[in-house]
Amino acid sequence: MAIARILFPLPLPEPFDYAVPEGMDLVPGSYVTAPLGKVERTGVVWSVEDDEVRGDRVLKEVLSVYPTPPMPESMRKFIGFAAAYTVSSPGAVLGMVLRARGGLRPSPTETQLEVSGEEPPRMTEARTNALGAARDIGPASAANIAEAAGVSAGVIKGLKDTGALIARTVDVDQPFPLPDPSLPGADLTSEQAAAAKELRAAAGKGGFAPFLLDGVTGSGKTEVYFEAIAETLQRDHSAQILVMLPEIALTQAILSRFDERFGAAPAPWHSGLPDKERRRTWREVAHGRARIVIGARSALFLPYRNLSLIVVDEEHDGSYKQEDGVTYHARDMAVMRAKLEGAGIVLASATPALETSVNAESGRYTRLKLSARPGAARLPDVSLIDMRTAPPEKGCWLSPHLAHALQQTQAAGEQSLLFLNRRGYAPLVICKACGERLKSPGTDNWLTEHRYTGRLVCHLTGYSIPKPDTCPQCGAKDSLMGVGPGVERVAEEVRTLLPNAVIEIFSSDTARSGEETRSLVSRMADGEIDVMIGTQIVAKGHNFPNLTLVGVVDADSGMQGGDLRAGERTYQLLSQVAGRAGRAERPGRALVQTYAPDMPAMLALRDGDRDGFLAIEREVRAEMSLPPFGRLAAMILSAPSADAVDKMALEAGAAAPHGDGITVYGPAPAPISVVRGRHRRRFLVQSAKSVDLSAYMAAWRKVLKPPANTRISIDIDPYSFL
Ligand code: ADP
Repeated sequence: MAIARILFPLPLPEPFDYAVPEGMDLVPGSYVTAPLGKVERTGVVWSVEDDEVRGDRVLKEVLSVYPTPPMPESMRKFIGFAAAYTVSSPGAVLGMVLRARGGLRPSPTETQLEVSGEEPPRMTEARTNALGAARDIGPASAANIAEAAGVSAGVIKGLKDTGALIARTVDVDQPFPLPDPSLPGADLTSEQAAAAKELRAAAGKGGFAPFLLDGVTGSGKTEVYFEAIAETLQRDHSAQILVMLPEIALTQAILSRFDERFGAAPAPWHSGLPDKERRRTWREVAHGRARIVIGARSALFLPYRNLSLIVVDEEHDGSYKQEDGVTYHARDMAVMRAKLEGAGIVLASATPALETSVNAESGRYTRLKLSARPGAARLPDVSLIDMRTAPPEKGCWLSPHLAHALQQTQAAGEQSLLFLNRRGYAPLVICKACGERLKSPGTDNWLTEHRYTGRLVCHLTGYSIPKPDTCPQCGAKDSLMGVGPGVERVAEEVRTLLPNAVIEIFSSDTARSGEETRSLVSRMADGEIDVMIGTQIVAKGHNFPNLTLVGVVDADSGMQGGDLRAGERTYQLLSQVAGRAGRAERPGRALVQTYAPDMPAMLALRDGDRDGFLAIEREVRAEMSLPPFGRLAAMILSAPSADAVDKMALEAGAAAPHGDGITVYGPAPAPISVVRGRHRRRFLVQSAKSVDLSAYMAAWRKVLKPPANTRISIDIDPYSFL
């Protein structure tokens, strides 16, 4: 009797051994159920051994095998790699793969009815209506036909009994339509065609080949990587392609571009997907039938059978870093996954991360450049507004220059976009009487005033209360005052400035669902909105042809916090935002309000000198051995009291192993030192590039014995230092 080593999607250190019952056909990668403790669990066979490893142990038996194709070896290797790199257990990574258990089983079925063409012996008005509705809507459930026709269930049943409607059993989850790679793409410009040719050549050959598609905003990067997708599909009739995007908001508009190019919408995957859609995508991916998947970072952990090409669009985007649970960077993991799969990979961006740029310079990635927008579209002119010399009027946030530009733009019948990366009305609420700053209970974070909902909200924990009439500290009446601007407050100012304009806010508060997002984006694209005021959600991917003015309200807000990538991130975000302007014939401009116009990020933005900016960043990071020239990892401890966490932090500091070229900084209170009543301390570990910092962190973690109420998390390549 063989033995199966089964990995469960739980944070366990290793797979468990089970006996394989006689006649059960198992291979490495099979999805199975087996008893674990008192419950039946789903897991994946990691290896199959012969009986010798059993010794005299009595083993429980595998219970059942799912009818899902086994997980390929490359995927299992990837899980092992991701676990070791992120200092997580393989089971925790497997947990990210098994996110839609319904996908392991065949689709549920339902009975649908359709007209047979036979007339019922007796016709009534209700029957005529029902047959008409059934003809119109095509095969559908009895309930749907009854509803469409406005008749009772009895009428439908009667028609079925007479044979006028016939029943068929169909799968609820339908397969995705197949993409057609032979449809024609756009007429490429010569620069686009040159890039597409290289991508097609690599895709035609197959194998691991990393590219950086480095093209200014609106230069047609999507059109170019479509060519790589088409070639991959043509070369291999079972090839699967993953296109990763940072935001769900982006997915909506781009789905229809895929539809146009390949005659079929791709399979979507993101955290907001309803369960039914998740299980459908998961199943179709696992069976190899979903050929193009478009998704957020977690789509990297789907069980593709034949992953042949990965596109990471907007590869510089911070949302590729997952901060909870298994902390991974989806771009970096995608490169590793492509390597293990022997697949192509295209990283696309107008503002590549320094990490990616350095890889392109060293020749590890092939850089393909797109320097211009197609047709008449031009990159916008960027000017800086020095807020020290041209400040807004008291109580306002827009400088006279920007206010004037908004008026001009409206008068010309064109659209404006104002960018401010702060939700709500005011990011801070203070009491005029006692000076109290209102914080979230048990959390070291200020409450933001939201005027539309009349609430004070903690953006970290989601805690919210109606805005009180009196100060919770001193009891003074009507003394609470919002300080600083959020998008709602800027909207208020624009309303006074342009009383006839249609003004909309675009933030995670107004675009809560896919439907709301779609509606805002399409109304803006169709020119129905005069001024859109948005948070970073507006920065990405959208094409608004009539948008000619972009105003950045507070360019400096991202520079606080002492984060090593603050300058880089600010530059990336602001050039993406500015890049929304001038997408069609009309030239665009961007006005950037700043109190620090001499900072390298601002100067580079004004001069369109991205490479000059990257060169300065590169020098600073190389000098300080920061990524990508050195490695960083963080260890974060948390406990319910400051004393407990300090005690543990002291022990942890003393237990840190010595290592050549490794420096441990800390413990220090985290910048947000209390979250949901838990006190937090951080260590930052820096090492030379050649050091296996994951192994070091794993060794350190292993010797720590935290008490039950203390948590330890490890973040390799941290992007957030809070
Ligand atoms: P990027 O991804 O670089 O921001 P997109 O691929 O979204 O750019 O292209 C920007 C806009 O220009 C899109 O509306 C796209 O359809 C259009 N476009 C790009 N290349 C061409 C081309 N060669 N011919 C016509 N339209 C193009």
